[in-house]
Amino acid sequence: MGKSILQIKELRKYYGSGDAQVKALDGVNFEVYEGEMLVLLGNSGCGKSTLLNIIGGMDSPTSGEVLLNGEDISKYNDKKLTQYRKDNIGFIFQFYNLLPDLTALENVRLSLNGKDEEHKAEKTLELVGLKEKMNHYPSQMSGGEQQRVSIARALVKGASLILCDEPTGALDDKTGRNVLVLLQKLVREEGQTLVVVTHTTPIASMANRVLHLRDGKIDFTEINEHPTNAEDIVW
Ligand code: ADP
Ligand code: MG
Repeated sequence: MGKSILQIKELRKYYGSGDAQVKALDGVNFEVYEGEMLVLLGNSGCGKSTLLNIIGGMDSPTSGEVLLNGEDISKYNDKKLTQYRKDNIGFIFQFYNLLPDLTALENVRLSLNGKDEEHKAEKTLELVGLKEKMNHYPSQMSGGEQQRVSIARALVKGASLILCDEPTGALDDKTGRNVLVLLQKLVREEGQTLVVVTHTTPIASMANRVLHLRDGKIDFTEINEHPTNAEDIVW
């Protein structure tokens, strides 16, 4: 196991107050190790997206600490969070979130902050199997292809952490499996660190570790000594 790069300590996120208060996260503690795939598993409403969004600097906790590479982001203001996100985080969403007026290549390049790294964007699109389609617009691509563009966008900037929220949630089984194969390749061959949110139990078998969430808390942690190959997952 790699070194610990993310530490979450006593993390809480409460919405509202009094009788209407929702404890989306209610005292969560865990670490993420470099080069692992960690899955957050649990039923709808258990707090998965809230947790991922806080790690990704898209939301702030009510209390607790979030340390990435030793830096505590839990009290950052919006401006510092935006910079943190740009520098450290790749995000893969259920519905891809590509910009419709930009080609695949332009969408990926955007992630490089205008740096002149055309070659890098092209190479990354090649890695995800889209060499032939880099000048296509999202509307000209299938859901699976659009998700590959979003994976390339997350990957190209060399983020410390790639966060995936239901990455196969909008895809059919076969296309979804191909996306999982690609995500597993990023971990096994590129040494990336992935945190993947899902409510689909079979997907968790490909993770190194699985945190089972329930009502804003970690119910238990599962360790897979031998993660399943994504090719073999059926759901
Ligand atoms: P999951 O991703 O596991 O389905 P969420 O993290 O989206 O769960 O939500 C956890 C809980 O917090 C749910 O009860 C949800 O209704 C509540 N919640 C999430 N966002 C908000 C919000 N902005 N305002 C009020 N309640 C929210
Ligand atoms: Mg969610």
